[in-house]
Amino acid sequence: MHEMSLMGGVFEVIEKTISQYKVSRVLQVRLKVGELTNAEPDALQMVFEAFCKDTICEGAELIVERVPVRGRCRNCQLEFTVPTMFFLCPKCQNTSIEVIQGEELLLESLEVE
Ligand SMILES: [Zn+2]
Repeated sequence: MHEMSLMGGVFEVIEKTISQYKVSRVLQVRLKVGELTNAEPDALQMVFEAFCKDTICEGAELIVERVPVRGRCRNCQLEFTVPTMFFLCPKCQNTSIEVIQGEELLLESLEVE
């Protein structure tokens, strides 16, 4: 499952972060999920719970914030939100668009006890 490897990366960051502090329990995990990751919220939730099981994250709440895709035109440098995978500059009609946001799955914040 695609979400499995994405979440694996997130948990590496979580473990690294909590190992630096005295944490007894993780209460809430907030993620930023780019539209281009194609991660299904339901699948993310399921995989999240699987990763949390028998760790200090067990029972933590998962909050997923969707991040829209943004691109930058290689011709006129315009930055814009890309609607439904339609990579076309609204200003100069160029189709050479660099993705600057939307491919990421990031740990936004962690609430711990
Ligand atoms: Zn352009």
